[in-house]
Amino acid sequence: MTVEEAAAAGEDQEIISWFEGVAENAGLVQTQTLRRIIELNHRTEYLQKWLGRDLQVQDLDPAALESLFISSVPLACHADHEPYIQRIADGDISPLLTQEPISTLSLSSGTTDGRPKYVPFTRFSSQSTLQIFRLGAAYRSRVFPIRAGGRILEFIYSSKQFQTKGGLTAGTATTHYFASEEFKTKQKRTKCFTCSPYEVIAGGDYKQSTYCHLLLGLAFSDQVEFVTSTFAYSIVQAFAAFEELWEELCDDLRGGTLSLRVTSPGMRRAVMDCLSPNPSLASNVEMKCRELEGSDWGSLIPKLWPNAKYIYSIMTGSMQPYLKKLRHYAGYLALVCADYGSTESWIGVNLEPHDTPERVTFTVIPTFSYFEFIPLYTRNKKDNSNLVVTDDFLEGDPLPLSRVKVGQQYEIVLTTFTGLYRYRLGDVVEVAGFYKGAPKLTFICRRKLILTVNIDKSTERDLQIVVEKGSRLLSQTRAEVVDFTSHADLAAHPGRYVIYWEVKGEAADGVLDACCREMDASFADHGYVVSRKTGSIGPLELRIVETGTFGKILEYYIGNGAAMSQFKTPRCTTNEVLLRILDRCTVKRFRSTAYG
Ligand code: AMP
Repeated sequence: MTVEEAAAAGEDQEIISWFEGVAENAGLVQTQTLRRIIELNHRTEYLQKWLGRDLQVQDLDPAALESLFISSVPLACHADHEPYIQRIADGDISPLLTQEPISTLSLSSGTTDGRPKYVPFTRFSSQSTLQIFRLGAAYRSRVFPIRAGGRILEFIYSSKQFQTKGGLTAGTATTHYFASEEFKTKQKRTKCFTCSPYEVIAGGDYKQSTYCHLLLGLAFSDQVEFVTSTFAYSIVQAFAAFEELWEELCDDLRGGTLSLRVTSPGMRRAVMDCLSPNPSLASNVEMKCRELEGSDWGSLIPKLWPNAKYIYSIMTGSMQPYLKKLRHYAGYLALVCADYGSTESWIGVNLEPHDTPERVTFTVIPTFSYFEFIPLYTRNKKDNSNLVVTDDFLEGDPLPLSRVKVGQQYEIVLTTFTGLYRYRLGDVVEVAGFYKGAPKLTFICRRKLILTVNIDKSTERDLQIVVEKGSRLLSQTRAEVVDFTSHADLAAHPGRYVIYWEVKGEAADGVLDACCREMDASFADHGYVVSRKTGSIGPLELRIVETGTFGKILEYYIGNGAAMSQFKTPRCTTNEVLLRILDRCTVKRFRSTAYG
């Protein structure tokens, strides 16, 4: 073991011991976390509205304070916090949500519900990001040891930061983090270094950044210990681009040059500083690429990065549809799931890196926020006397972390250090077990209904399952679904679901027609089944869009401030611009006729 490795092992042990301590006493730590949040912020306008002006925090013990908080502060959603956040964005520096003025706002991806939302970002946000990265890395290195001093091929991207009317810095949370001191600390102190310099990450044009990430990844290929991105989508995008760009990349490797497609002067300078001519590496990569081209790029990553130990990224939830392609590129390499969090707060860490994306759980970190869990039951639950009936689920009363039950599904509610109070995140999770006293969560889906025509209610997860079933029929061909989205077409009579697929490779019309019928038959929601049988929902339509359509959708979102690092393809849309892109790019239509 080198000196660096010994030091890193010491740090790993230190953070693991810390976490084991807080996990052991998770319930108590939560009560203390809430007390700390209230102590810091009880004089804010939001909390005084609910807790009164005379609260003396020191007079109450933590448990009494917890009861007071739960009984006085109502459950809320983003819309309840929005007027306060808007005033902050407009320059109001009075204590509205937090005692300390907020100087930075994050844009949550918004691609999940179509509208970017501002969320406060504070020093705590980047500190907790660094902390969860260190913790996750410590558990990972127990299972997949990596060489100190190696490199990471990291497909990460900042988006543009801008100023709000009141002069606050706004941008995505990942962008703020990449610009923070904590990120610099991580870059200096982790065992391995990112192949790309900061100028590539912050270059602002994701295509140019991807080219440079790939080129530098190849230049340092022998040293790369693992390949990573925030969401798996970025890795799949990068290697899809690689299939098109490899010859140009080899030319640059050979000559120590940089393609003119990279126009940003800062990025050019920083990349050129890392490159020198390497004809033998270029020939080697070229030879491997010719072979890979013949095998449809299967096992691309281990073949070109022979020392890589694993791929690390968020692969669960809305990233699941990219898993098949990721596995294809990854070959025998392990896929390790990255942690669970949101712009609002980090939530859980993956303590078992060997778990597959299908089995992975995230253990709640009880110091990051105060977490509550709203039990959710399907609408056919018999005893629903004490439950609130909502559109999609029956809801019980919110429970603290210490009272959740294994096997039960919940919606997560957050009270954060950044000024969100009893904030419904909209994610549905299931408790899979406990690590000491901390619940281990499986991510189930975003709660929001995405497709509904009348009494039917289909979620993102329902759609994902249906597309998965439909696209299985493509396995008899050489075609695959690259990406998909959907729309509830209410202008049609009767209304119907429209699913858009971008397909790579050739598939006969007969097969696509069968895919369309399979999807229509696979929606399991009772409302959908009944409505289809009675004809109050029309036949599902599958529309095939031309190659590059989802690239245009990505560009549209990036143009509106989204970041490549946090991008999630919207799985259902009512957005006029998107629908115009999709309709203009539709090349084939199939309708499922017979039903039931
Ligand atoms: P954002 O809106 O960009 O802050 O994205 C946060 C959302 O991404 C979360 O609320 C989840 O729905 C999803 N997400 C984040 N991490 C994971 C994960 N590890 N697995 C599944 N979904 C995740």
